[in-house]
Amino acid sequence: MNWLRNFMRERYGPDQLSIGLIVAGVVIGFIMGHLPILNWFAWIIQSVFIALAIFRMLSRDIISRQSENAWAMRTWYRIRDGFREGRDKRAQSKTFKFFKCPACRNVLRVPRGKGSIRITCPKCGEKFTKNC
Ligand SMILES: [Zn+2]
Repeated sequence: MNWLRNFMRERYGPDQLSIGLIVAGVVIGFIMGHLPILNWFAWIIQSVFIALAIFRMLSRDIISRQSENAWAMRTWYRIRDGFREGRDKRAQSKTFKFFKCPACRNVLRVPRGKGSIRITCPKCGEKFTKNC
């Protein structure tokens, strides 16, 4: 394995984005490869994803690769948090109503069934009336 260590010296190596690309490529290829149509398309996507992952791992431009990975992680967490937020909201929607503050877009949670109430945004202090 010494030749590999020498070969990988000063190269970026694997990170979450590259591993994610490989996993996504394999999963997409596996799922779409079993469809009666478009399996050439699955093969192209799979090849592109895996080629990109290999390119990134062998790259010497470490700063660019790190910023790509940071961007991918931020995007991933944003998507995941969006799903969690939606799930939490659905779970709470029987007992609470959600409003956006008209001034700062902050999301406010108000108990249901209180009729018309005056809401004060805890973030910016904006006051508005809502029916809940
Ligand atoms: Zn506000």
